Amino acid sequence: MTCSFNDFGMHEKLIKAIDDMGYTTPTPIQEQAIPYVLQGKDVLGIAQTGTGKTASFTLPMIEILHDKQAKARMPRSLVVSPTRELAAQIHDNFKNYSKYTKLSTVLLVGGESMAEQTRVLSGNVDVLICTPGRLIDLFERGHILLNDIKIFVIDEADRMLDMGFIPDLERIAKLLPAIRQTLMFSATMPPPIEKLAQKFMSFPKRISVTPPSSTATTVTQEFYFAETAQNKRHKVSDFIKAEKIQNALVFCNRKKDISAVKGSIAKYTGEKV
Ligand code: AMP
Repeated sequence: MTCSFNDFGMHEKLIKAIDDMGYTTPTPIQEQAIPYVLQGKDVLGIAQTGTGKTASFTLPMIEILHDKQAKARMPRSLVVSPTRELAAQIHDNFKNYSKYTKLSTVLLVGGESMAEQTRVLSGNVDVLICTPGRLIDLFERGHILLNDIKIFVIDEADRMLDMGFIPDLERIAKLLPAIRQTLMFSATMPPPIEKLAQKFMSFPKRISVTPPSSTATTVTQEFYFAETAQNKRHKVSDFIKAEKIQNALVFCNRKKDISAVKGSIAKYTGEKV
């Protein structure tokens, strides 16, 4: 049976805002995540953009937060996003869904006036949405207190990893109360994200709406062990020769290796590289 937004028991102010958006039924990630978030559980959502994952945390957060107010300079919830663009989209989501409530939502991203952000922070902020660098910056300048955060959301955790934000996230998490609700969303779950999830969350409910990244069935993968870099280059060349490969793409993990690999393949295979 398909569930409806009414089944979650959320306030009519939220249902009205959802209705205004034209949504009729929750998406699979919303159907699974919203009840757990409402119960105060930690949630690990493995979902890509386009699945409706933003509403799967914004809607229940509004429900949890809407009937109380924040103290000055002490936001009650924090959403961190890897990019300014994504943070702005999350902010728009919050504004749309909370328009019939009194919740105040603030967006703090790099490249915007620090003076204006400081002014906004001196008021009451229920939901703070930011990129990691700007949050740390404002915290270090003493403009914000994070000890009243009740809900912490990390969106697109795998992109955070790609962009080198994991140390910043670890720092931010240390500034938050140990007793809080943590929600983490990621399109993929590489081992460092898995580790982060274990560190930041307690007994998270794991929800996956896309299969974990897998290789297409038409692709064959093989693993060759090589002890030295030279040995490695020979193996690549031998393989290209033995399999009579006409077209190949060879990836290197460092720029400086490329010319050595290129020279080696050209020399051993006699092919144009
Ligand atoms: P997201 O995955 O959060 O980036 O959302 C992707 C798009 O789906 C956004 O444009 C949302 O406005 C839209 N959306 C989210 N939830 C629903 C829903 N239940 N029904 C229809 N559209 C939705």
